[in-house]
Amino acid sequence: AEEQQKIAILSVFDKTGLLDLAKGLIKHNVRLLASGGTARMIRESNFPVEDVSAITKAPEMLGGRVKTLHPAVHGGILARNLESDEKDLAEQGISKVDYVVCNLYPFRDTVAKIGVTIEEAVEEIDIGGVTLLRAAAKNHARVTTLSSPNQYHDFLKELEQGDISEKTRKLYALEAFEQTADYDDAISRFFRAKYAGDGLQHLSLRYGANPHQKPAAAFMRNGHLPFKVLCGAPGYINLLDVLNSWPLVKELSRALEYPAAASFKHVSPAGAAIGVPLTEIERKVYMVDDIEGLENSPLAQAYARARGADRMSSFGDVIALSHKVDLPTAKIISREVSDGIVAPGYSPEALEILRKKKGGKYLVLQMDPDYEPPSEETRQVYGVSLLQQRNDAQISPSDTFATIISPKENSKLPGTAVRDLTVATIALKYTQSNSVCYALNGQVIGLGAGQQSRIHCTRLAGDKADNWWMRFHERAINLKWKKGVKRPEKSNAIDLLCSGSVPKSGVEREDFEKNFEEVPSVFTEEEREAWLSKLSEVAVSSDAFFPFIDNVFRTARSGAKYIAAPTGSQNDQAVFSTAEKLGITFVEQHIRLFHH
Ligand code: 5GP
Repeated sequence: AEEQQKIAILSVFDKTGLLDLAKGLIKHNVRLLASGGTARMIRESNFPVEDVSAITKAPEMLGGRVKTLHPAVHGGILARNLESDEKDLAEQGISKVDYVVCNLYPFRDTVAKIGVTIEEAVEEIDIGGVTLLRAAAKNHARVTTLSSPNQYHDFLKELEQGDISEKTRKLYALEAFEQTADYDDAISRFFRAKYAGDGLQHLSLRYGANPHQKPAAAFMRNGHLPFKVLCGAPGYINLLDVLNSWPLVKELSRALEYPAAASFKHVSPAGAAIGVPLTEIERKVYMVDDIEGLENSPLAQAYARARGADRMSSFGDVIALSHKVDLPTAKIISREVSDGIVAPGYSPEALEILRKKKGGKYLVLQMDPDYEPPSEETRQVYGVSLLQQRNDAQISPSDTFATIISPKENSKLPGTAVRDLTVATIALKYTQSNSVCYALNGQVIGLGAGQQSRIHCTRLAGDKADNWWMRFHERAINLKWKKGVKRPEKSNAIDLLCSGSVPKSGVEREDFEKNFEEVPSVFTEEEREAWLSKLSEVAVSSDAFFPFIDNVFRTARSGAKYIAAPTGSQNDQAVFSTAEKLGITFVEQHIRLFHH
């Protein structure tokens, strides 16, 4: 039987390369059917072309809204090489379509124009074109879909050699689906910003990571954002902090069945803790000894510990709290410099206090505690999409620290050690890598984040733990401050003193001295060593294995008694035996916890 003349439907907004394509198709005896503007252009070049209405027997209507939407078109595209499909086509006098050439109205360009109205945008939503592409791509077993002028050249070359291969049709179908997905993405993004405002599904942000990075937004594709903004306007980095600190306290609180708190800066914890009751000295060191009702609020004590771990780093923090915020917790927060807070709820008195902070601009978010993120997460870096399974590994005090490697005879860890290893390890799960964390008394006491070398993390965290401990020296506790010295200035001066960085003379020395009624003497080498030797029982966790024994040496200098870390280094055996020599119990923590 004589082969049926092949049919192409052409309907393109971007008419680049159209005439060359038409010429090539005609050379291969293909019958061309085209929508209004497309047909006109081909006809003007004196190539044979028919209007789509030649087969639909219906004119374009509604000012172009309906051009190709017709069973004569879509029946012809979607029909398979099946007897029943052939029968249906024959009954309706429809011919099969072999090639669909279509590109869409430029919705993205239109809505990118300043001051575009909803009506203008609506008219730019291509319906028939998307339908053509989807229909042709769906039936790629038989039909070739050209969705971009970039494809015409190779298509014609392949046509020259015979037919279009299955492999090519598959790739063209994929490209068409990518285009319609991208197109719908642009449309839903436009309407999300217009119709889903009020922070329910979409939240416009002032800017991204930096002020010149505009626009910026937070949104959900499905359903509502898992938090409500009760006060203030979150920034991009605020939200990164919120979305890392909230799961940290949620997990920590669940794992240890205690209220938990975290103090975040630049997407890593400066402190994290559970509400272990504070001693009198701790209350002083953490500057909360005058907070009424503190001893009856585990949540307030958790935050006092999280904020107290590294007061300098916590300056301007984003706070996450696992439980409903009460008055004592709000009182602590009210007098610290902080950017925002996320919690599952607030007592009316607590909310009233927080709403007054920063002249009413303090960021207060209420998190839905039942929210569960999807198991896969995607993001784009430099235009490339990265996809991964979310890190939903569970850190459980009973299972995660069950494998004691050395010493062999020590087969059980004390409860306090398990607690502190849990705090340190869950903190690391939400810390920028590489990271190492020292913990004690249910709280982080030193955390080294975002270093490229493990020993630098271990040193940084160890130095922070040392600083933290020096703050418990009676000289640091009993400083005689001048009147009017503010809390952050005190924290900075204490840090100079405790880290041994007070200069001997000069303007910086004067600046230090002006804080005090009575200038404290600096710690001598001997005083420092004597005091640091009293730091003990510290639990250390690492987000990946220790490649060298130097890390173990460094943790021992800051009172490490327990280390939990993944294994797999060539130096594992040396690391274990070094720990054993130093009297440190080494626990294998099976889950690597890189986080970026
Ligand atoms: P033309 O310039 O040929 O008149 O129109 C081409 C454009 O119309 C293409 O971008 C194509 O995606 C779009 N198109 C094709 N069929 C229809 C239809 O039935 N309705 C609408 N709104 N657009 C269509």
